Amino acid sequence: MRPDAQAALAAMAQTDIRTTLGLRPLINVSGTMTVLGASIMVPQAIAAMAAIASEFVDMAELHQRASDGVAQATGAQAGFITASCASAITLSVAATITGERRLAIERLPDVRGLRNEVLVQTGHLVGYGASLQQTIEMTGARVVPVGTVSMAQPYQLDEAIHEHTACAVFVVSHMTVQYAMLALEQVCAICHARGIPVIVDAASEYDLRGFLARGADIVVYSGHKFLGGPTSGIVAGRADLVRAARAQNHGIGRGMKVGKETIAGVMAALQAWELRDAAAIRAREDAALALWQTHLQGLVAVQCLRVDDPTGNPLQRLRVHVHPASGWNARSLADALAQGEPSIRVRDYQTDLGYFDLDPCNLHDGEAPVVAHRLGALLGKTG
Ligand SMILES: *Cc1c(COP(=O)(O)O)cnc(C)c1O
Repeated sequence: MRPDAQAALAAMAQTDIRTTLGLRPLINVSGTMTVLGASIMVPQAIAAMAAIASEFVDMAELHQRASDGVAQATGAQAGFITASCASAITLSVAATITGERRLAIERLPDVRGLRNEVLVQTGHLVGYGASLQQTIEMTGARVVPVGTVSMAQPYQLDEAIHEHTACAVFVVSHMTVQYAMLALEQVCAICHARGIPVIVDAASEYDLRGFLARGADIVVYSGHKFLGGPTSGIVAGRADLVRAARAQNHGIGRGMKVGKETIAGVMAALQAWELRDAAAIRAREDAALALWQTHLQGLVAVQCLRVDDPTGNPLQRLRVHVHPASGWNARSLADALAQGEPSIRVRDYQTDLGYFDLDPCNLHDGEAPVVAHRLGALLGKTG
């Protein structure tokens, strides 16, 4: 990096850029949320992005290095970096429709004469700020729901497969129905017996190897969630399908393409992930949970308990049940926290059930006590 660039970076680090841009400072105890700016990028990713930003590279070579890096981190044959996990889903689905046929790639979303049905369990048809169904169907594919929202059975998947089936998409997320769905192993067994590839959307999952090991042909991740990389999506899996996904950059993938800085940033984030001190990170998160728990324990207005991550990521959150007798409910308390200075954003999907969660995974030093004190102050406790 040029020295003047280094100086500019150092100067920026001194001030809170949010103030410069006229933005309110915000403490994220919600989780890795796209709407809040995803995650804290790891320093290795920031450094790699800054270092490559002013250099020229042969992009095909860089893509190849990235493929090697993804393969090493995931155990896949190959990998590919695109704009987001949603892009990764779209391009992976497109790969199963077109293969590497260039004319078919250039023709999408016109799928005449191509396999274009995508099987998804009804309980997996989630939304993440956009709908999974639309993310799939913008290729020209058509989603064929399997089973009902409360149950999917093996025959319902098996009998839905025919000559127009392109692939199945399996979603791993707290947002799916966590009840009577088919397991990944079952979906893979049924689909593979009929030659149908399985794409796993594991956007927010820490496990980089397990889904491929359990039979997935392709698994896709967000680079900007737990990995702490730049906004991006990672495709990992079978070499022919990954090549076909990348080839979509000559078609519908063009508007989803990433530049050298994103690729370098994701590669650095993947390396940092492998080298991270998971025990120390977990201990830091546990310390925040303990602090909040201690602080809130004496209050009759709320009741707290630690809850495990619903999809088995190695983390816990603090669930805060708000008693209506306090004059607050979970919604009004979450809103009051968000309206304060700095704005504190809790994990508020389930305020209708009387609680919100505090997620300790995206805290800067010194922020956990701010959250504790604000909660205490709002609930009538000082100190
Ligand atoms: C976040 C998320 C996505 C979308 O990821 P982006 O990288 O923001 O496009 C897709 N699927 C699931 C399950 C998610 O949690």
